[in-house]
Amino acid sequence: MRKKIVAGNWKMNLNKAEAEILYNNLESKSYPDDVEVIIAPPSIYLNSFSNASKVRISSQDVSANNNGPFTGEFSAEMLHSINLRFAIVGHSERRTFHKETDLLIFQKVEMLLKHGITPIFCCGESLSDRESKNHFSVVKSQLSQIISNLSPKDFSEIIIAYEPVWAIGTGLTANPQDAQDMHSFIRGLISEEFGSEISELISILYGGSCKPSNAKELFSMNDIDGGLIGGASLDSESFESIINSF
Ligand code: PEP
Repeated sequence: MRKKIVAGNWKMNLNKAEAEILYNNLESKSYPDDVEVIIAPPSIYLNSFSNASKVRISSQDVSANNNGPFTGEFSAEMLHSINLRFAIVGHSERRTFHKETDLLIFQKVEMLLKHGITPIFCCGESLSDRESKNHFSVVKSQLSQIISNLSPKDFSEIIIAYEPVWAIGTGLTANPQDAQDMHSFIRGLISEEFGSEISELISILYGGSCKPSNAKELFSMNDIDGGLIGGASLDSESFESIINSF
């Protein structure tokens, strides 16, 4: 059975006091046994939350380098040393604002896997890709580095997040059938390369304006194993309601 996962990406939000309130709130609750709850606070707070027990902590990014003269960056080894076991990579905001390429994102994935950290690998098409009906080929090409270059064992450690860029932070959500079609397409690509045993094991999350009012319908689709949540993860009630939407 695939893991059900709800991951909250706090992005660059919340000062320390606000972050602690949200974290303490989430840590004080109980969650369904079969749902893994992950939060990705800004990196400056990661160390102070690394002893969490109810929620798992993720980084929002990582360097593709191990150490050295890379001002402002932090490595997979550093994340490992503070007991972090998850990191988001390839978020569309990193692809857009930091010009991250598929190759760079692949190098980050490799670095994380080398240090025993699970990459939450984001992919997703822009509005113009979807309007020109190129969405499947765009997502296929974003996945091609990790599908062609990772071993089956490494690939089975990955979590995929399909996040159509036009749905992120816009209030627009992919309709559940369109999201399901993409998730099933992604699982098919994994199956072609690694076989159905591995493809059936990989959790594929949906992200893009997922909220309490649409989570249940999205999560009821066969190939949607949970969500990567931005805005709605900043409010503990909304986030909990999404966690309870399976
Ligand atoms: C995200 O940025 O990963 C995301 C899904 O954001 P939102 O839920 O706010 O659309």
